[in-house]
Amino acid sequence: MRQSQLFTKIERNAPKDEATVNAQLLARGGFVSKLMAGVYSYLPLGLRVLNNIENIVREEMDAVGGQEISMPIIHPKSIWMTTGGWDKIDVLFKVKSRTEKDYALGQSEEEVVTPLVMKYVNTYRDLPKAVYQINWKFRDELRSKSGLLRGVEFLMKDMYSFHETQEDFERYFAEVKKAYFRIYERLGLTAKATEASGGSFTQKISYEFMVLTDAGEDDILYCDACEFCVNVEIAKEKEGDKCTRCGKGTLAKAKASEVGNVFDLGQKFVKDFDVTFTDKEGNKRHPIMGCYGIGISRLMGVIVEKYHDEGGIVWPGAVAPFAVHLLSLNGADGEKIYETLQNAGVKVLYDDREATPGEKFASADLIGIPWRMVVSPKLLAEGGNKVEIKRRSEKDSQTVGLEEALKIIK
Ligand code: ATP
Ligand code: MG
Repeated sequence: MRQSQLFTKIERNAPKDEATVNAQLLARGGFVSKLMAGVYSYLPLGLRVLNNIENIVREEMDAVGGQEISMPIIHPKSIWMTTGGWDKIDVLFKVKSRTEKDYALGQSEEEVVTPLVMKYVNTYRDLPKAVYQINWKFRDELRSKSGLLRGVEFLMKDMYSFHETQEDFERYFAEVKKAYFRIYERLGLTAKATEASGGSFTQKISYEFMVLTDAGEDDILYCDACEFCVNVEIAKEKEGDKCTRCGKGTLAKAKASEVGNVFDLGQKFVKDFDVTFTDKEGNKRHPIMGCYGIGISRLMGVIVEKYHDEGGIVWPGAVAPFAVHLLSLNGADGEKIYETLQNAGVKVLYDDREATPGEKFASADLIGIPWRMVVSPKLLAEGGNKVEIKRRSEKDSQTVGLEEALKIIK
């Protein structure tokens, strides 16, 4: 893509109404644009990143046998009355039609998926089943001041699974938990699984996946020597205590952002909708249900919180909008190189604008594409198709022939 044709432009100054690094850098770089608190447009660069995150999540959900579907976002009031959510869920958006009918906007979709899945489950032979969607959610959040970390409209992956027995549910639950760690690792993040607050009094198993960041809204205690991690809300331990799990480390307090969770829903929803299957003995039973969420747009914000420096964003390769940012300086002709890179299948943003080298370097730092490739009259004069390449995450550049550069980048 040619930067001269790009829909967006770089902004020198951070918007005044954004307090967090992710919102400031993403707005300045032209990744997102705020419509109102917690509601953003995703622009060409930003949508590429969001799609990259989404695809990693999709691959891993497919790998554990999840089948992708897309469910409605606007729901009749009746299904939310059936589960009690209409009155109990404070973040539920309620919409009235011109004929005074009530609707809810999806904030999670157990109410839709439970009756849906059960249409296709009659006997134990039809179980287990797991379906997921990657879709926009709406929540009437009171504090939407953390950029993409807390949206009123946000992108979530929500998967739901249905099982014949508790044992089968637990087997699948463990599999999904592993898939979650793979997802975070592929995104360049280190996530810790805490025992979630629901877990303590419901006896049901559930985990929240936390990434340490000062922009996060959760307080956690974690062990500096082992995997132990707990939400301060429910912790019996204090900061500075010895870790009882490993006996070696000390507990430290930190801010974290919840980037996903996995829940044992038991039979709450299947009982509400009275969905049953016939077991091996011919008896009618309720299945066991699990749900598994991942905050896709929140992850985009968390990645920026983790990967930036004073110049801008430093995208991990797996989610970057492009692989190479090609800059032509002082009128140097970069067309051939742009073409060569594209033919080699490299995703490249080509800064062909009329701008000073200083402006081009600053925009490359802000946008944060993993490799910067510079072509200048001086380099061209050296002959042999020389370019200068530099990783966004490193200071030093190297001058090499284009073929060599392609090898290094790939
Ligand atoms: P939180 O405690 O942060 O409000 P939650 O417990 O309400 O999260 P869930 O309802 O389980 O979250 O949603 C699943 C995932 O969706 C969360 O783990 C989080 O990553 C993401 N998420 C939840 N609320 C928001 C939001 N307002 N904006 C962006 N992402 C969100
Ligand atoms: Mg919430």
